[in-house]
Amino acid sequence: MALIELDEVSKVFGFGEATTLALDEVALSVEKGEFLAVMGPSGSGKTTLMNIIGLLDRPTHGDYNLGNESASRLKPIQQAKLRRDKIGFVFQFYNLLPGLNVLDNVSLPLAYRGMTPVRRAKRASDMLELVGMRDREYFMPSQLSGGQAQRAAIARALINKPSIIIADEPTGNLDSHDSKVVMELFSEIHRQGNTILLVTHNPELTRYASRVIYMYDGMIVGDEKTPIGQMARHARRIYFKKQRVTDSDIAAGVSAMLKDIPGKEITSKTKRKKATGRKRRLIKRSKK
Ligand code: ADP
Ligand code: MG
Repeated sequence: MALIELDEVSKVFGFGEATTLALDEVALSVEKGEFLAVMGPSGSGKTTLMNIIGLLDRPTHGDYNLGNESASRLKPIQQAKLRRDKIGFVFQFYNLLPGLNVLDNVSLPLAYRGMTPVRRAKRASDMLELVGMRDREYFMPSQLSGGQAQRAAIARALINKPSIIIADEPTGNLDSHDSKVVMELFSEIHRQGNTILLVTHNPELTRYASRVIYMYDGMIVGDEKTPIGQMARHARRIYFKKQRVTDSDIAAGVSAMLKDIPGKEITSKTKRKKATGRKRRLIKRSKK
Protein backbone atom coordinates (compact mmCIF):
# COMPACT_ATOMS: atom_id res chain seq x y z
CA MET A 1 0.00 0.00 0.00
CA ALA A 2 1.11 3.56 -0.71
CA LEU A 3 2.34 5.81 2.11
CA ILE A 4 -0.53 8.25 1.59
CA GLU A 5 -3.89 6.98 0.31
CA LEU A 6 -6.97 9.12 -0.10
CA ASP A 7 -10.14 7.48 -1.25
CA GLU A 8 -13.02 9.72 -2.32
CA VAL A 9 -12.08 12.38 0.19
CA SER A 10 -14.43 15.34 0.30
CA LYS A 11 -14.31 18.40 2.49
CA VAL A 12 -17.25 20.70 3.03
CA PHE A 13 -16.87 24.00 4.89
CA GLY A 14 -19.79 25.90 6.38
CA PHE A 15 -23.48 25.16 6.62
CA GLY A 16 -26.64 25.80 4.63
CA GLU A 17 -26.34 28.36 1.89
CA ALA A 18 -22.76 29.19 2.81
CA THR A 19 -21.28 25.76 2.15
CA THR A 20 -18.15 25.36 0.09
CA LEU A 21 -17.10 22.06 -1.37
CA ALA A 22 -13.36 22.51 -0.95
CA LEU A 23 -12.51 18.94 -1.96
CA ASP A 24 -14.70 16.89 -4.23
CA GLU A 25 -14.10 13.13 -3.90
CA VAL A 26 -10.36 13.29 -4.27
CA ALA A 27 -8.50 10.03 -4.82
CA LEU A 28 -4.74 10.20 -4.45
CA SER A 29 -1.95 7.85 -3.55
CA VAL A 30 1.57 8.96 -2.88
CA GLU A 31 4.44 6.50 -2.56
CA LYS A 32 7.24 6.87 -0.08
CA GLY A 33 10.04 8.96 -1.57
CA GLU A 34 7.96 10.91 -4.07
CA PHE A 35 8.44 14.64 -4.47
CA LEU A 36 4.95 15.78 -5.30
CA ALA A 37 4.25 19.32 -6.48
CA VAL A 38 0.66 20.55 -6.21
CA MET A 39 -0.44 23.31 -8.56
CA GLY A 40 -3.75 25.02 -9.23
CA PRO A 41 -5.40 28.42 -9.00
CA SER A 42 -6.11 29.88 -5.63
CA GLY A 43 -9.23 28.46 -4.02
CA SER A 44 -8.83 25.13 -5.83
CA GLY A 45 -8.36 23.18 -2.60
CA LYS A 46 -4.58 22.79 -2.36
CA THR A 47 -4.28 23.92 1.26
CA THR A 48 -7.33 21.91 2.30
CA LEU A 49 -5.77 18.82 0.74
CA MET A 50 -2.44 19.44 2.51
CA ASN A 51 -4.18 20.03 5.84
CA ILE A 52 -6.04 16.75 5.56
CA ILE A 53 -2.92 14.83 4.54
CA GLY A 54 -1.04 16.55 7.37
CA LEU A 55 -3.74 15.65 9.91
CA LEU A 56 -4.50 19.28 10.68
CA ASP A 57 -8.02 18.77 9.41
CA ARG A 58 -10.43 15.90 8.85
CA PRO A 59 -12.30 14.93 5.71
CA THR A 60 -16.07 15.34 5.73
CA HIS A 61 -16.36 12.13 3.70
CA GLY A 62 -14.02 9.46 2.48
CA ASP A 63 -11.06 7.55 3.84
CA TYR A 64 -7.52 8.59 4.48
CA ASN A 65 -4.76 6.09 5.17
CA LEU A 66 -1.33 7.19 6.28
CA GLY A 67 1.33 4.49 6.43
CA ASN A 68 -1.27 1.73 6.59
CA GLU A 69 -3.18 3.36 9.40
CA SER A 70 -6.68 4.65 8.90
CA ALA A 71 -5.94 8.22 9.89
CA SER A 72 -9.51 9.41 9.56
CA ARG A 73 -10.61 7.00 12.25
CA LEU A 74 -7.97 7.90 14.82
CA LYS A 75 -8.86 9.93 17.91
CA PRO A 76 -7.57 13.53 17.92
CA ILE A 77 -4.83 12.68 20.42
CA GLN A 78 -3.61 9.76 18.30
CA GLN A 79 -3.72 11.98 15.23
CA ALA A 80 -1.63 14.58 17.00
CA LYS A 81 0.97 11.97 17.89
CA LEU A 82 1.11 10.65 14.34
CA ARG A 83 1.45 14.20 13.06
CA ARG A 84 4.27 14.98 15.49
CA ASP A 85 6.23 11.85 14.57
CA LYS A 86 5.69 11.68 10.83
CA ILE A 87 5.02 15.13 9.43
CA GLY A 88 6.88 18.41 9.25
CA PHE A 89 5.12 21.56 8.04
CA VAL A 90 6.51 24.60 6.30
CA PHE A 91 4.20 27.53 5.54
CA GLN A 92 4.37 30.63 3.38
CA PHE A 93 4.68 33.02 6.33
CA TYR A 94 7.11 30.87 8.36
CA ASN A 95 4.90 30.87 11.48
CA LEU A 96 7.82 31.45 13.83
CA LEU A 97 6.83 32.63 17.30
CA PRO A 98 7.91 36.29 17.48
CA GLY A 99 8.74 36.22 21.19
CA LEU A 100 11.23 33.34 20.96
CA ASN A 101 14.70 33.40 19.46
CA VAL A 102 15.57 31.15 16.52
CA LEU A 103 17.03 28.36 18.67
CA ASP A 104 13.96 28.23 20.92
CA ASN A 105 11.60 28.30 17.94
CA VAL A 106 13.39 25.36 16.38
CA SER A 107 13.58 23.32 19.58
CA LEU A 108 9.97 23.99 20.54
CA PRO A 109 8.48 20.80 19.03
CA LEU A 110 10.86 18.78 21.22
CA ALA A 111 9.43 20.30 24.39
CA TYR A 112 6.38 18.11 23.91
CA ARG A 113 8.58 15.02 24.05
CA GLY A 114 9.93 15.57 27.54
CA MET A 115 13.53 16.00 26.39
CA THR A 116 15.91 17.94 28.67
CA PRO A 117 16.54 21.59 27.70
CA VAL A 118 20.24 20.92 27.04
CA ARG A 119 19.55 18.06 24.65
CA ARG A 120 16.82 20.07 22.96
CA ALA A 121 19.15 22.98 22.36
CA LYS A 122 21.89 20.70 21.05
CA ARG A 123 19.55 19.06 18.56
CA ALA A 124 18.07 22.40 17.46
CA SER A 125 21.57 23.75 16.99
CA ASP A 126 22.47 20.77 14.78
CA MET A 127 19.37 21.37 12.66
CA LEU A 128 20.26 25.03 12.27
CA GLU A 129 23.72 23.98 11.14
CA LEU A 130 22.07 21.81 8.49
CA VAL A 131 20.13 24.74 7.04
CA GLY A 132 23.11 27.11 7.29
CA MET A 133 21.65 29.16 10.13
CA ARG A 134 23.91 28.26 13.07
CA ASP A 135 25.17 31.83 13.29
CA ARG A 136 21.64 33.16 13.72
CA GLU A 137 20.68 31.02 16.74
CA TYR A 138 20.16 33.92 19.09
CA PHE A 139 18.47 36.25 16.62
CA MET A 140 14.80 37.07 17.03
CA PRO A 141 12.52 36.25 14.05
CA SER A 142 12.04 39.97 13.32
CA GLN A 143 15.80 40.28 12.72
CA LEU A 144 15.83 37.70 9.93
CA SER A 145 15.40 38.07 6.19
CA GLY A 146 12.59 36.09 4.55
CA GLY A 147 14.98 33.42 3.36
CA GLN A 148 16.57 33.07 6.79
CA ALA A 149 13.18 32.88 8.51
CA GLN A 150 12.11 30.16 6.11
CA ARG A 151 15.31 28.20 6.71
CA ALA A 152 14.66 28.42 10.46
CA ALA A 153 11.12 27.19 9.83
CA ILE A 154 12.50 24.26 7.84
CA ALA A 155 14.89 23.41 10.69
CA ARG A 156 11.89 23.41 13.02
CA ALA A 157 9.92 21.20 10.61
CA LEU A 158 12.79 18.70 10.54
CA ILE A 159 13.51 18.58 14.25
CA ASN A 160 11.36 15.50 14.94
CA LYS A 161 12.88 13.73 11.92
CA PRO A 162 9.58 13.42 10.07
CA SER A 163 9.47 11.29 6.93
CA ILE A 164 6.92 13.54 5.23
CA ILE A 165 7.42 17.26 4.65
CA ILE A 166 4.40 19.32 3.68
CA ALA A 167 5.30 22.75 2.35
CA ASP A 168 2.42 25.06 1.43
CA GLU A 169 3.75 27.79 -0.88
CA PRO A 170 7.02 27.97 1.07
CA THR A 171 8.65 30.29 -1.46
CA GLY A 172 5.57 32.45 -1.98
CA ASN A 173 7.12 35.25 0.01
CA LEU A 174 10.75 34.86 -1.08
CA ASP A 175 12.86 36.38 -3.85
CA SER A 176 14.37 34.09 -6.46
CA HIS A 177 17.69 33.66 -4.66
CA ASP A 178 16.10 32.70 -1.34
CA SER A 179 13.61 30.46 -3.17
CA LYS A 180 16.48 28.56 -4.67
CA VAL A 181 18.23 28.13 -1.32
CA VAL A 182 15.02 26.83 0.24
CA MET A 183 14.27 24.52 -2.70
CA GLU A 184 17.78 23.08 -2.60
CA LEU A 185 17.16 22.22 1.04
CA PHE A 186 13.95 20.39 0.18
CA SER A 187 15.78 18.66 -2.61
CA GLU A 188 18.45 17.44 -0.18
CA ILE A 189 15.79 16.22 2.24
CA HIS A 190 14.16 14.40 -0.67
CA ARG A 191 17.44 12.75 -1.69
CA GLN A 192 17.69 11.33 1.81
CA GLY A 193 14.57 9.28 1.07
CA ASN A 194 11.87 11.48 2.52
CA THR A 195 8.53 12.28 0.91
CA ILE A 196 7.88 15.91 -0.01
CA LEU A 197 4.56 17.57 -0.81
CA LEU A 198 5.02 21.06 -2.15
CA VAL A 199 2.27 23.49 -3.06
CA THR A 200 3.53 26.08 -5.49
CA HIS A 201 2.39 28.63 -8.03
CA ASN A 202 5.81 28.72 -9.63
CA PRO A 203 6.12 26.35 -12.62
CA GLU A 204 9.92 26.62 -12.42
CA LEU A 205 9.84 24.75 -9.12
CA THR A 206 8.32 21.65 -10.69
CA ARG A 207 11.92 20.92 -11.72
CA TYR A 208 12.50 19.63 -8.21
CA ALA A 209 9.47 17.35 -8.30
CA SER A 210 9.07 13.77 -9.49
CA ARG A 211 5.35 14.22 -9.99
CA VAL A 212 2.92 17.12 -10.34
CA ILE A 213 -0.80 17.15 -9.67
CA TYR A 214 -3.03 19.95 -10.91
CA MET A 215 -6.11 20.95 -8.94
CA TYR A 216 -9.20 22.80 -10.02
CA ASP A 217 -12.44 23.30 -8.13
CA GLY A 218 -11.59 20.79 -5.42
CA MET A 219 -10.63 18.07 -7.87
CA ILE A 220 -7.39 16.67 -9.19
CA VAL A 221 -7.64 17.36 -12.91
CA GLY A 222 -4.15 16.36 -13.96
CA ASP A 223 -1.44 14.05 -12.67
CA GLU A 224 1.94 13.96 -14.32
CA LYS A 225 5.17 12.07 -13.59
CA THR A 226 8.12 14.25 -14.44
CA PRO A 227 11.89 13.71 -14.38
CA ILE A 228 13.73 15.66 -11.71
CA GLY A 229 15.54 18.58 -13.32
CA GLN A 230 12.85 19.16 -15.93
CA MET A 231 9.90 21.45 -15.74
CA ALA A 232 6.64 19.50 -15.86
CA ARG A 233 4.94 19.54 -19.23
CA HIS A 234 1.67 21.22 -18.22
CA ALA A 235 3.48 23.55 -15.85
CA ARG A 236 5.74 24.62 -18.69
CA ARG A 237 2.72 25.54 -20.76
CA ILE A 238 1.45 27.66 -17.91
CA TYR A 239 4.88 29.24 -17.62
CA PHE A 240 5.27 30.22 -21.24
CA LYS A 241 1.70 31.40 -21.55
CA LYS A 242 2.31 33.55 -18.52
CA GLN A 243 4.98 35.51 -20.39
CA ARG A 244 2.40 36.46 -22.99
CA VAL A 245 -0.24 37.83 -20.66
CA THR A 246 -1.28 41.21 -22.02
CA ASP A 247 -2.30 44.27 -20.07
CA SER A 248 -5.87 43.78 -21.18
CA ASP A 249 -5.82 40.26 -19.71
CA ILE A 250 -4.72 41.70 -16.43
CA ALA A 251 -7.29 44.44 -16.67
CA ALA A 252 -9.94 41.83 -17.24
CA GLY A 253 -8.77 40.15 -14.07
CA VAL A 254 -7.95 36.94 -15.88
CA SER A 255 -4.93 35.27 -14.39
CA ALA A 256 -2.73 33.22 -16.69
CA MET A 257 -3.00 30.41 -14.21
CA LEU A 258 -6.78 30.25 -14.31
CA LYS A 259 -6.88 30.37 -18.06
CA ASP A 260 -4.35 27.70 -18.53
CA ILE A 261 -5.42 24.79 -16.36
CA PRO A 262 -6.24 22.86 -19.49
CA GLY A 263 -9.96 23.16 -20.09
CA LYS A 264 -10.48 20.01 -22.07
CA GLU A 265 -9.06 17.79 -19.43
CA ILE A 266 -11.13 19.43 -16.78
CA THR A 267 -14.37 18.73 -18.59
CA SER A 268 -13.56 15.13 -19.35
CA LYS A 269 -12.34 14.37 -15.84
CA THR A 270 -15.15 16.33 -14.28
CA LYS A 271 -17.67 14.27 -16.13
CA ARG A 272 -16.03 11.09 -14.99
CA LYS A 273 -15.86 12.31 -11.44
CA LYS A 274 -19.47 13.33 -11.44
CA ALA A 275 -20.70 9.87 -12.42
CA THR A 276 -22.67 8.51 -9.52
CA GLY A 277 -24.08 5.23 -8.23
CA ARG A 278 -24.08 2.36 -10.67
CA LYS A 279 -22.07 4.20 -13.26
CA ARG A 280 -19.31 4.99 -10.79
CA ARG A 281 -19.12 1.38 -9.66
CA LEU A 282 -18.86 0.38 -13.28
CA ILE A 283 -16.06 2.85 -13.92
CA LYS A 284 -14.25 1.50 -10.88
CA ARG A 285 -14.62 -2.07 -12.00
CA SER A 286 -13.47 -1.30 -15.51
CA LYS A 287 -10.33 0.29 -14.11
CA LYS A 288 -9.31 -2.82 -12.15
P1 ADP B 1 -6.08 26.94 -2.16
O1 ADP B 1 -5.09 26.54 -1.11
O2 ADP B 1 -5.95 26.14 -3.42
O3 ADP B 1 -6.05 28.40 -2.43
P2 ADP B 1 -8.06 26.29 -0.15
O4 ADP B 1 -7.89 24.85 0.15
O5 ADP B 1 -7.49 27.26 0.83
O6 ADP B 1 -7.54 26.61 -1.62
O7 ADP B 1 -9.60 26.62 -0.28
C1 ADP B 1 -10.49 25.85 -1.06
C2 ADP B 1 -11.89 26.41 -0.91
O8 ADP B 1 -12.36 26.17 0.41
C3 ADP B 1 -11.97 27.90 -1.13
O9 ADP B 1 -13.19 28.18 -1.78
C4 ADP B 1 -11.97 28.46 0.26
O10 ADP B 1 -12.64 29.69 0.32
C5 ADP B 1 -12.68 27.39 1.05
N1 ADP B 1 -12.21 27.31 2.45
C6 ADP B 1 -10.98 26.93 2.86
N2 ADP B 1 -10.87 26.92 4.19
C7 ADP B 1 -12.08 27.31 4.66
C8 ADP B 1 -12.63 27.50 5.96
N3 ADP B 1 -11.91 27.28 7.07
N4 ADP B 1 -13.92 27.90 6.05
C9 ADP B 1 -14.67 28.12 4.94
N5 ADP B 1 -14.21 27.94 3.68
C10 ADP B 1 -12.95 27.55 3.53
MG1 MG C 1 -3.58 27.67 -0.15
